[in-house]
Amino acid sequence: MVSSSFSGAESLTAETANQIISVLGDMNVTRTIVTDQHAKILYDSLQNQNAQGKYVLFDEIVQALSGKDVFRCTYENGILQSFSAVPVMTRDTVAGCVYMMEYDSEQGIIIQNLERNILRGSVILLAAILIFAGIFTWTGSQRMRKVLRNMRMVREGEYDHKIEMRGYDEYTKLATEFNKLTDRLQQSEQVQRQFISDASHELKTPLASIKLLSDSILQNAMDADTMREFVADIGSESDRLTRMAQKLLTLNRSEDTMPEHIIVDLGKLVSRVYRMLVALSDRSGVELTANVSGECTMLSFEDDAYQIVFNLVENAIKYNHPGGSVHVAVQGGDDDVRLEVRDTGVGIPKDALDHIFERFYRVDKARSRQAGGSGLGLSIVRELVERNFGTISVESKEGEGSCFTVVFPFLGVGEEIDDAD
Ligand code: ADP
Repeated sequence: MVSSSFSGAESLTAETANQIISVLGDMNVTRTIVTDQHAKILYDSLQNQNAQGKYVLFDEIVQALSGKDVFRCTYENGILQSFSAVPVMTRDTVAGCVYMMEYDSEQGIIIQNLERNILRGSVILLAAILIFAGIFTWTGSQRMRKVLRNMRMVREGEYDHKIEMRGYDEYTKLATEFNKLTDRLQQSEQVQRQFISDASHELKTPLASIKLLSDSILQNAMDADTMREFVADIGSESDRLTRMAQKLLTLNRSEDTMPEHIIVDLGKLVSRVYRMLVALSDRSGVELTANVSGECTMLSFEDDAYQIVFNLVENAIKYNHPGGSVHVAVQGGDDDVRLEVRDTGVGIPKDALDHIFERFYRVDKARSRQAGGSGLGLSIVRELVERNFGTISVESKEGEGSCFTVVFPFLGVGEEIDDAD
């Protein structure tokens, strides 16, 4: 505005400068300087340092005389200083410049206060961050220590011990997962204990019978026929022991080792089982029939498939009535091979259906024992089916009969069939 007031003047002299400045009145700045094009001061508002007639080489003035508008602002020691210089143009040439300078302590104080507040805020923020980081680290390590302490207790054998952890952080998730793990450990320990106690109980029974029978032979005078009967009983009890030991071994082996795969034709395998069990079915008065359709190859571990079919068919004969029947059907489909063992036997009560695959579970203990059972057959079957990637299901009606269905994934055509079967 000042510079444009000057550009109306004919020539830029000390008089015109004084006149124009006096017309403009108080411009509320600390110092106003008007120079000619050689940087010689024509007007200086600071009367006490009046530099009129002197040359001035402030950076801003030099730049303004080269035709530029200049503005610079600095803040130092609580004072805001602003410098501006603009050229005064007459007929498109620089005739001089107007320079203004302002020391603003009020704004300086505002800036100083702002500076102080920012510093204070930063210190508070930093302190807060440090405190929070400290609290976070402390609570984190406390929680971690708690988890470790509890883990140690579980390691010492307290499987029923649970980690109580509140909150929604990673430690809570860790504690939840750990509690699930201990649940599993507890379960498997319970299953193991149960298995050992059931196994020893089951083994003790035939051993006690053998002891009783041998004591009777030793302590009582008996004729040769009676003695033969007793010895035959001892023989059948030791057969039972052998069978049970064999089954326990099978169960253990199915958990620990993974024998080699072989390709098995389930159809041929059923004929083999048929030949093995037809004598038992004849003795029991049960009609045993089988039917094979389609291509029935599957991949099986060693003789797992044989064991599965044998146990199912043997049970179907064992838990049957004289005059009853057992039908074994094998059907090769597009994606699977289906084995069905259907009998018209005693059937399984509804509430027992969920338990028959458990180790040592028997619906009718007396009948099972009488039939030479151990309560292990179906649990072996289920483990073998699962490790051969199959599924097993059962349908049964008490007094009418049962049907066990096993489905194995089908092995593609063109594979070589194991002739051993
Ligand atoms: P077990 O050695 O006693 O036969 P399993 O594990 O083979 O043991 O069978 C468990 C129980 O399931 C048997 O005791 C029997 O009560 C019942 N069971 C199994 N198969 C049949 C079946 N085909 N018909 C009726 N009950 C069966």
